[in-house]
Amino acid sequence: MTEHPTAAELDDADPLAALRDEFELPDGIYLVGNSLGALPKAARDYVNAEFDRWATLGVEGHFTGDLAWKDYHELLTNQLAALTGALADEVVAMNSLTVNLHLLMVSFYRPTSTRHKILIEGHAFPSDHFAVESQIRQRGFDPQGSMILLEPREGEELLRPDDILAAISDHGDELALVLLPGVQYYTGQVLPMAQITSAGHAVGALVGFDLAHAIGNLELSLHDWDVDFAAWCTYKYLNSGPGGVAGAFVHHRHVSDQSLPKFHGWWGTNKASRFEMATEFDAIPTVESWQLSNAPILLMASLRASLDIFEKAGGMGPLRQKTEQQIGYFDRRLEESLGDRVQSITPRALAERGCQLALRVTKDDGRRVFEELENARVLCDWRHPDVIRVAAVPLYNSFDDIDRFVDILDVVVR
Ligand SMILES: *Cc1c(COP(=O)(O)O)cnc(C)c1O
Repeated sequence: MTEHPTAAELDDADPLAALRDEFELPDGIYLVGNSLGALPKAARDYVNAEFDRWATLGVEGHFTGDLAWKDYHELLTNQLAALTGALADEVVAMNSLTVNLHLLMVSFYRPTSTRHKILIEGHAFPSDHFAVESQIRQRGFDPQGSMILLEPREGEELLRPDDILAAISDHGDELALVLLPGVQYYTGQVLPMAQITSAGHAVGALVGFDLAHAIGNLELSLHDWDVDFAAWCTYKYLNSGPGGVAGAFVHHRHVSDQSLPKFHGWWGTNKASRFEMATEFDAIPTVESWQLSNAPILLMASLRASLDIFEKAGGMGPLRQKTEQQIGYFDRRLEESLGDRVQSITPRALAERGCQLALRVTKDDGRRVFEELENARVLCDWRHPDVIRVAAVPLYNSFDDIDRFVDILDVVVR
C-alpha cells in the first residue's frame, strides 16, 4: 500500500480551509453547490443594509451614497470581470439566465436564408433547448432544419472535442451560431471553449457559451478566447441564493456596435440623461446597453457577499488548485472503497472537468441509493434516469466531506 495523506491531513494543509466558516451550511454533507450554492453568512448583513437604507432613505436610496441603487450593479462589475476573464465593459449582472440567453440571441442570432443554423448539444439543459428552438421559430425558421443537435457517439456519454469541431466545420457556411455550455450540467464535462470559438469564427459563425456550471468553477478567459457572448446564473457556484440575479458577457468588439439588433429598455440608455425621460435611445457604450430594467438590489446584495469571498480566496487560481486536489482525492477514495460498484461518467482528465462528479452505481438501483443517501443527510442531486451528481465546492467543502460521503456510499451501495 502506498501512503496517501488522510482527509484530516489534507484539510490541515489546505490554505482555503477557513473559508468554510464564511458559509452557513445545512446539516449533513452538502455536496450540491452545483445546483444551489451555500449561504454566505455576510449575505444577511448585505441584504439587511439595503432594507435599512430603504427604511431610512426611501426613494432617495436610488441616489444617495456609495451604495446608490441607480449604480448598484456597477459594484459587481470588477469582480464578475475577474471571474470570467473579461474587461469591465464586457460584463454586467442583470435578469436571469434564460432571459439573458434570449436577449443575447436577439443580437447574435441573425439568420439569413443561407446561414440560419444554431448548433447546440442534444442533451442541452432544457431551458437552453427551448430558448434556441423558440428563437429559431421567432425568426420564421423551422427548428427541424435550423437546430443542429450534437450527440455523443453511439454508446458514449461524452462529446468528443474533435467531433464538436468537426460538426462546426461540416455545417460551415450554414452555421449562424454555436451555443454550447462551458461545463455540461449532467456529465460535468468541460468543453474546450477557446477551440470551439476559433472553429466557429473560422466558418463565419458567432459563438456563445452558457456558463451556468462553469463560472465560479473554472478559470475563464472569455475576452482572450474571443468569445462573442456568454450568460450565466449565480445561484450555483456563485452562491447568490435561489433565483439570484444572472450575468452576461459581450465581447468588447461588439459592445458599442449600434448596428446590432437589440431589445431596449431605459436601463440601457445613457445614464446622464436617463432621468430626463427622453425617448431618444442613447446606448451606453458597454454591455450595460443590454440592460432593460433597474437592478434587483436585494439579489445583488447577496451576490456581493459571495463575490467578496471569492476575492478573499485570491480568485479562481487557488480555488481551481484546490479543486484539482479534491477531485484527485475523490477519484482515489471511490476506487479504493467501491471499485467497480460505481462508475463516474465525468471525464477522467483534469483539463476536462470541474468540481462536479456524475456517478452511476453499477450493480444497484440508483434511485434507492439516492434516497438512502438523502436519509443519511447527504445532500446531492439525482438526474433522471440514473445519475447522482456530487460537487466538492472548494470554497466550503472539505476533504473530510468527501471522505465521509464515500464511506456512506460504500454502505449504501451493496
Ligand atoms: C441552471 C441552468 C439553467 C437555469 O436557467 P434559469 O434561467 O436560471 O432558470 C439554464 N441552463 C443551464 C445550462 C443551467 O445549468
